Amino acid sequence: MGGMGSGNWMRWGSKSTVDSQHAVDVRYLKKQGSLEAGKSGSLTWSRQGKQTGAISYQVKENGIMLIYNMRENSSAEWETVEQFVSFDYTPCNYGGKRTWLLCTHCNRRVTCIYVTGKYFLCRHCYGLNHQSQHEGYCDRLLSKAQSRRTKLGGSPSLGDLFPEKPKGMHWKTYHKLQDQAMSDEEACFQKIDEYLNRFSSRLS
Ligand SMILES: [Zn+2]
Repeated sequence: MGGMGSGNWMRWGSKSTVDSQHAVDVRYLKKQGSLEAGKSGSLTWSRQGKQTGAISYQVKENGIMLIYNMRENSSAEWETVEQFVSFDYTPCNYGGKRTWLLCTHCNRRVTCIYVTGKYFLCRHCYGLNHQSQHEGYCDRLLSKAQSRRTKLGGSPSLGDLFPEKPKGMHWKTYHKLQDQAMSDEEACFQKIDEYLNRFSSRLS
């Protein structure tokens, strides 16, 4: 991270993990006066003085077109991606309107979208919360799921069948525990999947 001095707009957020990603920040574009329809330009990112990515953009009436080449890994073919990201607007207290980006995947209204795969999506979609928070979340789910299993007299391994209802426990209690465990375990696996599927992208 860094190397671009005061021009480095990836520092805008406060979450360091997110900041280190290739991001399109609508506040930056606004500040640069680049949000008007018809404007076009390019955005570049660098780390330690070395450029790590660049894209072109064209601002339309109702959104922004992002144009870039990417490949899944260093031996894959380059592919040109054109991604249109819609704008959304909310009124400002002091008049005028505030422009937001609508995440192409989840339709959330966001100020920043990030590329870690093929497309620029919001941090919710890419699970790009603070690294420690991100890992902590999964760890917490995992240990909760494991302790539920051992409480029921089973093994902590999520690969094993869910333990049977202990004698003396109400079915209602058991089913509740089972439901909670299932949703935690599923969420945890989903996080792990996200992590593994996040292929490295190269932008040019
Ligand atoms: Zn999203």
